[in-house]
Formats: sequence, C-alpha cells, structure tokens
Amino acid sequence: MSSSRLTQAAYQSFPGGPLEVDRAFYDAVAQCTSAGSAKLIQEFVLPIRSGRAWEIQAGNVCRIITPEGPQQVGDLNLWHLHNPKERFWAARTRQLQRAHVSVYDRLWSTLPYLRSMCTITGDSLSDYGVDKEGGRVHDLLGTRCDPYVNKMLSGKYFDYHCHSNLVRAIEPYGLQESDVHDVLNVFQSTGLNDKDQYFMKTCPAVAGSYFEFFAEIDLLCALSTCPGGDLSKAMWGEGSEGEDPNMDPTLECCRPLKVEVWELPEESLKDWKHFTAEKYEGSHGLPKV
Ligand SMILES: [Zn+2]
Repeated sequence: MSSSRLTQAAYQSFPGGPLEVDRAFYDAVAQCTSAGSAKLIQEFVLPIRSGRAWEIQAGNVCRIITPEGPQQVGDLNLWHLHNPKERFWAARTRQLQRAHVSVYDRLWSTLPYLRSMCTITGDSLSDYGVDKEGGRVHDLLGTRCDPYVNKMLSGKYFDYHCHSNLVRAIEPYGLQESDVHDVLNVFQSTGLNDKDQYFMKTCPAVAGSYFEFFAEIDLLCALSTCPGGDLSKAMWGEGSEGEDPNMDPTLECCRPLKVEVWELPEESLKDWKHFTAEKYEGSHGLPKV
C-alpha cells in the first residue's frame, strides 16, 4: 500500500486549474523589487509591541522586514479594502496551500468570496525548510496572542498582545475587535510535536530578513509586532509577563518591523492574470428569493 498516495495533498493543483500559479509572472515581480525597477511609495517602521494598518493597491508589492534583527515575529491580517467582510481565511489557506507558506503560495479570502487576496513573491527564509524538531517558518497553524487566553492562563492583564495591537491598528479605518481574525504569523517557526500539540520556536529571522507579497486586490493590511518578540521566552504562565509592558522579561526579545510598499513598472503587469474561478451562485438548499 502506498502511503504517499494516502497522504497526498487533498487539494491538488494541476495545469490550467484554479490553484495553478504563473511562476514566471511572480518571478518577474520579485525581480522588479530586488533589481530596483520598482518605486518605493510607502515605508514605515512599526515599533515594538505596536500595531499599524495600511492600504495597498492591487498590483503593488508589500515587503515586511526585520530591520534590526536578530528576530521578531509579526502577526498579519488582511481585508478587501472596499469590503472588510471579505478577509483573510487562514484555515482554508492552510488547506489550499500549506501550513507554513512561502513563495508562490496565495493567501485566500473568506466566504462567500473565496479568492486569492495576494501571492507571496519573496521570502528570505525560504531555505529554512523543516528543522530537526519539525519546525517550519511563516506559520498558519496557530493564531495571534490575545489578552483573553493570557488572563485565563496567567491571571494577568496585558493590553499589548497581537490581538489588541491589531484592534488599535484598525480603529482609524472604522473597524473593530470583531474584524480581527486569524493571522499569518510572519517569521514565526512552529510545528506539531509527537502528541500533535502546537509548539513555537525562537524566530529564525536575522537583520534584513524579508517576506514579500503581491496584492491581487486592493487591500487593507494590519500588522502587529508580537509582544513575545522572537518567542525565545515563554509568553504564558508565572513570571512570563508583568502588568507593566515595560517591565517584563520578554521585552529584551522585542524588535521593530519595517513595512515597504512598492509600485511596479506598468509594463511588468501586462501578463498579470487576475484570479478568476467558477463561482457558487446557489442558495444552500434554501428557496431562492
Ligand atoms: Zn503575538
């Protein structure tokens, strides 16, 4: 009996199918930002334990960087800029792509939309692969840290978890706590242990590590610099955090992240195939009105 056949990916990509990616196009996109033909149109540094939201137009490229190193994890949320009900769907992306994403993987949106929101075009940690403990980088297995689980597990209040950082980040855009959703943990190394339990390892990013994606639709993005920093110290339990965010032992693990948005030369977009797929237009078995 072939185990490879039994464990092959449930969702298969095939030539001409909806999951196929035009690698030559995205290679050319990556070349634009690395070779200097793209124009930097926005950049900012996200301080430690903070959140910020920003807009990206379809066809632009966004790069998230660890400018100071050695490590820092970032928690990323995405919405369709003009309809925040359409937002990043981590679980379906995990199935359609994989549990740790890299170049050519797409990040998919929620129902009833289900389309590619962006395609990953650059990842300086793409050679990380799988380490000896089974850890891989850019995590979709887990989600953001939050003050509710922190209070439950440690009994302490803390207002600068990724969930809260994202809540503050999107407030100027008229969004609220319920709009925050499961994240892509950029630069975060995770896996499942032999008891099938989630583990997090120290982030492998170094100064200048980057993760880059091409916006397939107009996006509102929000990023949090995780208060766990590089996750080299436990975030939960006794002694892991103080009530004062400036007085806890994980603070020394925290570093800023940098965000850049790049506009590509118009001619580089001429072969861009906008995502299209068969669309469900049924009524879920209910009478059509
Ligand atoms: Zn976090």
